[in-house]
Amino acid sequence: MNNGFGFVQVGRATIQDPDFVKKLQSGELIESPCDHCNRCVAAMDAGGVYCVSNEKGFM
Ligand code: SF4
Repeated sequence: MNNGFGFVQVGRATIQDPDFVKKLQSGELIESPCDHCNRCVAAMDAGGVYCVSNEKGFM
């Protein structure tokens, strides 16, 4: 925000790791390990919102 952005939207990165923003702030992460596979989107109707790749060990 200090660099002039009006807003920042974060979606799948926080599904993959709910602490993603805190980890960015602390310097623990510089990018999300989410690989944009969209398995979480495909699973929303069946099991709610969660990172399927984390759950199934694909990461
Ligand atoms: S299922 Fe895939 S796209 Fe969704 S949060 Fe996990 S790694 Fe990212």
